[in-house]
Amino acid sequence: MIGSEGRPRRVLVAGGAGFIGGHLCARLLAAGHTVLCVDNLSTGRRRNLDVLTETERFDFAEADIVDGLVVSGPFDAIVNLASPASPPDYLRAPIETLRTGSAGTLALLELARAKGARLVHASTSEVYGDPLVHPQTEDYWGNVNPIGPRAVYDESKRFGEAACAAFVREYGTNCGIVRIFNTYGPGMRSDDGRLVPNMIMQALAGEPLTIHGSGEQTRSLCYVEDTVDALVRMIERDHRGPVNVGNPVELSVRRVAALVKELIGSASSLEFVPAMVDDPRQRRPVIDLAARELGWTPRTELREGLRRTIAFFAGEREALRS
Ligand code: NAD
Repeated sequence: MIGSEGRPRRVLVAGGAGFIGGHLCARLLAAGHTVLCVDNLSTGRRRNLDVLTETERFDFAEADIVDGLVVSGPFDAIVNLASPASPPDYLRAPIETLRTGSAGTLALLELARAKGARLVHASTSEVYGDPLVHPQTEDYWGNVNPIGPRAVYDESKRFGEAACAAFVREYGTNCGIVRIFNTYGPGMRSDDGRLVPNMIMQALAGEPLTIHGSGEQTRSLCYVEDTVDALVRMIERDHRGPVNVGNPVELSVRRVAALVKELIGSASSLEFVPAMVDDPRQRRPVIDLAARELGWTPRTELREGLRRTIAFFAGEREALRS
């Protein structure tokens, strides 16, 4: 178990300039750890790290995990967040997504093995595909179309899990897999194409809110600080997972739209467009394992999380205008 004696650790965060990564780096630094963030900035942004560069315990290297990383010194943990994560991002870069999830993950596993470090791998609820079992427990194997457009993401994440499991079996590498469900919060890109930023930006602009399909499909939305809390706990424990990390409060896309409109005080209409190919109809994690093994449950109520996220995007719009 790393961190059990409370001493500072060296942690490499791959994909640390992204949405979740920026929050994770900040949290690790605040806890006194030393952080090396490695990111190719394909979907991440340097500005997610701006405030962190003030501390000597933080370093950034612009690099692609697919190329293999040469890093000096010991590391206690490596967190693999590197991957395009929003559908428009991975649909724009399908081969890069596959390469990052496969060759990139293998390269980080080799690094973890060489350094004797724990590797925490960020997998996703997308490994369940369009689930035939509801809600989703970790022992469900999923329902993924392997040749659909979304497969580049889903299957690369499934490959990543298989690679972690193989390194555990073959070399005894200390790996832990977390299956992250929809996470939202400040620091997302306004144009990243995911549900929450899309709706907030549209409502702030007084434009119609786009709904794919009927809007009756459900999502479970977890506030980013809660997701990061689970990641930190996973770094500190030895559990192999996979462990679901998400908020079990399930609500329809229509309900999310109504909440966003209410909190912004927007009169925007709803614009219905065709459903996305292989879009999951239902999503809700069972988080008993996370509660038992990590002592984790999400704490942030959706309204509060949305309020903070709306304030963030309102600030972004102001900054763009000035
Ligand atoms: P993000 O796109 O904001 O962050 C991903 C980061 O990885 C970016 O900074 C990007 O530049 C970097 N990256 C991509 N390919 C790379 C490569 N080959 N080498 C180095 N860096 C690379 O996405 P996010 O929402 O912060 O997601 C982080 C991780 O969590 C991803 O692995 C994603 O699959 C997983 N996840 C996120 C969610 C969510 O709702 N946000 C849900 C499930 C899983």
